[in-house]
Amino acid sequence: MGTRGRQLVGDNAEKLVDLLNRALADEWLAYYQYWIGAKVVRGPMKGETIAELTQHAADELRHAEMLATRIIQLGGTPILDPSRWKELTNCGYDAPTDPFVKTVLEQNIKGEQCAISTYSKILEFVKEFDPITEQIVVQILADEVEHEDDLQSILEDFEDMKFAQ
Ligand code: FE
Ligand code: FE
Ligand code: MG
Repeated sequence: MGTRGRQLVGDNAEKLVDLLNRALADEWLAYYQYWIGAKVVRGPMKGETIAELTQHAADELRHAEMLATRIIQLGGTPILDPSRWKELTNCGYDAPTDPFVKTVLEQNIKGEQCAISTYSKILEFVKEFDPITEQIVVQILADEVEHEDDLQSILEDFEDMKFAQ
């Protein structure tokens, strides 16, 4: 971003870049958790689950893109080394060591709930001084809310199925 654009965020630039880099770490870990989850998941409703996980992986990658672009505009450096993802993450990484549909869905629901909390906090911070980042965070937050809802509705169908027999 040009010098005038950066004046919008003023003294908050450094803290903002740090928050966005932490969110960037979350997005990459979420991307991989969905991507690998879609490869290994097993059990009833596997097809539907794979389709949802694959779509969410693509969304998380797009979020990473949005964050990295904004970090650069702010004069910051997006995380350059993947070894820092685990160091900076807010929401961590849940390896799908148990590939059963229900477990994978529950792990990813937990991840989305953490993402919703994280972006809500970033939104509170940026809305005071940075309408550009605010707009980006609102878009991402809307996706995370949709992700949680999508996964919970598959999980509900899964639970209902047990009683339909
Ligand atoms: Fe995301
Ligand atoms: Fe998400
Ligand atoms: Mg979805």
